[in-house]
Amino acid sequence: MSLTIVTGGTRGIGAAIAARLAAEGHDLVLGYRSDEESARATAESIHARGVRCVTVRADLTTDAGIEELFARAAEVGPVTGVVNNAGATYRFAPLHETPTEEIRRTIDINLTGPILVARAAVAVLDRGGVIVNITSGAATIGSPGEYVHYAAAKAGLDAATRGLGLEVADRGIRVVAIAPGLIATDLHATTGDPERVARMAPQIPLGRAGQPEEIANAVAWLMSDQAAYVTATTLRVAGGR
Ligand code: NAD
Repeated sequence: MSLTIVTGGTRGIGAAIAARLAAEGHDLVLGYRSDEESARATAESIHARGVRCVTVRADLTTDAGIEELFARAAEVGPVTGVVNNAGATYRFAPLHETPTEEIRRTIDINLTGPILVARAAVAVLDRGGVIVNITSGAATIGSPGEYVHYAAAKAGLDAATRGLGLEVADRGIRVVAIAPGLIATDLHATTGDPERVARMAPQIPLGRAGQPEEIANAVAWLMSDQAAYVTATTLRVAGGR
């Protein structure tokens, strides 16, 4: 039996990951921040696939939120995997125009939160398992003029993937990351630029934005036994960018 926590699992890339893992037979605990409507709709479609699905509203920039997520998961059963997918960009702007508070918030949700979630995951994966961190191609591009601090946070999560993967390899826990490129989700509109995907797609070597399901396919593979020899590394799924 697989029981997987997916943070930010009720919309966008996270919802696609949830759907794909449900198709593989995983029971799911899906975290989300505030979008009740997406949570209800995603849970309904996951239930229709015949697996268990619990949604947990919790702010993962708080200790209480992380504790709540893992406490609710423990009620479902022993956790076998965690997908650290929740993340946010908030605004597109050069760094010198970005308020301190926003930089801190961005690093909280894209780096500190995922590291705390990974720490909690290691504590519950006492029979081994898999942690997948969703980072970003931004980590190596640097995202000048858009969100340098977000790119830095994601680069930090890549580094944590490497370090933690080595640290817990002998406990049977694999820690891997996926660095998506431009993916067609609501993140871009939420951040204030609904045209961004269409505008940037031609710059991608493969000539288009990726779909959330293409990230989900990679997650499913990394969580499966087919990737049993893969750990402490980042897989880029970015159309060549
Ligand atoms: P999205 O905005 O559709 O979803 C983000 C999810 O994160 C939501 O479910 C939300 O509830 C959750 N979340 C945000 N803040 C939270 C908080 N404080 N506490 C708990 N949950 C919180 O975005 P998406 O495009 O699906 O992005 C998913 C992941 O992929 C993110 O980590 C993002 O940085 C990364 N990513 C996205 C793209 C892209 O082009 N869309 C590219 C590279 C990486």
